[in-house]
Amino acid sequence: MHILLTGAAGFIGMHTALRLTGRGDTVTGIDNLNDYYDPALKHARLERLQALPGFRFQRLDLADRAGMEALFAGQPFDAVVHLAAQAGVRYSITNPHAYLESNLTGFGHVLEGCRAQGLKHLVYASSSSVYGGNTKMPFEETDPVDHPVSLYAATKKANELMAHTYSHLYRLPATGLRFFTVYGPWGRPDMAYFSFTKAVLEGRTIDVFNHGDMKRDFTYIDDIVEGVLRVLDKPATPETEGGAPHRVFNIGNHDPVQLLDFIACIERATGREATKRLLPMQPGDVPATYASTRALHDWVGFAPATPLAEGITRFVRWYREHYRV
Ligand code: NAD
Repeated sequence: MHILLTGAAGFIGMHTALRLTGRGDTVTGIDNLNDYYDPALKHARLERLQALPGFRFQRLDLADRAGMEALFAGQPFDAVVHLAAQAGVRYSITNPHAYLESNLTGFGHVLEGCRAQGLKHLVYASSSSVYGGNTKMPFEETDPVDHPVSLYAATKKANELMAHTYSHLYRLPATGLRFFTVYGPWGRPDMAYFSFTKAVLEGRTIDVFNHGDMKRDFTYIDDIVEGVLRVLDKPATPETEGGAPHRVFNIGNHDPVQLLDFIACIERATGREATKRLLPMQPGDVPATYASTRALHDWVGFAPATPLAEGITRFVRWYREHYRV
């Protein structure tokens, strides 16, 4: 297959590109290589990918309408895996424009490109953040999600609505995946597992929000990529004769962990003790996330396979090698 992968220099994008090219697919990767976090890390990921046969890269911003139109006009794709977005809940509180441009305008351009091509399947990244402050656990796809607590969450919910509209109006088969706190090697420096590990190894104090009384359904990157590929490979057959299907699935670990237990896990993996500063809840944060993965299991047999201790050990090993600490 020839797959367009957006966000190829990103954390999940790089791992997805590795798996796709590894099994013989051709991948056209795009990314604007922005400086939301250390661009050197994005360049290092890209360097790995560019050494692979079957991978080609174009630096392109999703919000560049003419550039996106030219991309889709230039070559047919069998499917699109759309992972590029302005990520991060906290950053969205102070930088709304980045989210409006990349996640709304940019996503619109992706949908338009898919429509113009009569694409067979669009798989796109949504987020557990659409559940907002849901207290009913675990989160199920059928739960009402009408109270996003950050603009980031609102743009991800908007993506689901936009894809849904394109599916029935223009017969674009689309599947949204609500990722739950993804971690692993080559991960994102703006996320807690990364900054906590860095701080512990450098002997600095960790800021722990909501006094540590927070639960996250940490999901290992290989499990996420496995789910993305399974969804991509399953033909997006119509449910009715009228339109193309739009489906949304959780993809998580189904095993939420308290933040303080998570830090203890990092302490064991690094062999160092963390110094913690307990702080109140941050705006936009939610107290807990917990994925029901039943629907994705029923659809493609997905089941998370990596226990937290093993995943964190692999992350810490990568971190030490990559940063030579
Ligand atoms: P990431 O930031 O590492 O990757 C996103 C990539 O998209 C980056 O390389 C960035 O440069 C690129 N990008 C951003 N805006 C762009 C634009 N306008 N044009 C072109 N490229 C652009 O993030 P990630 O963790 O790999 O996340 C991938 C997707 O999964 C995102 O849509 C994110 O919102 C979603 N997600 C991630 C998590 C997680 O825990 N990592 C959780 C929920 C949802």
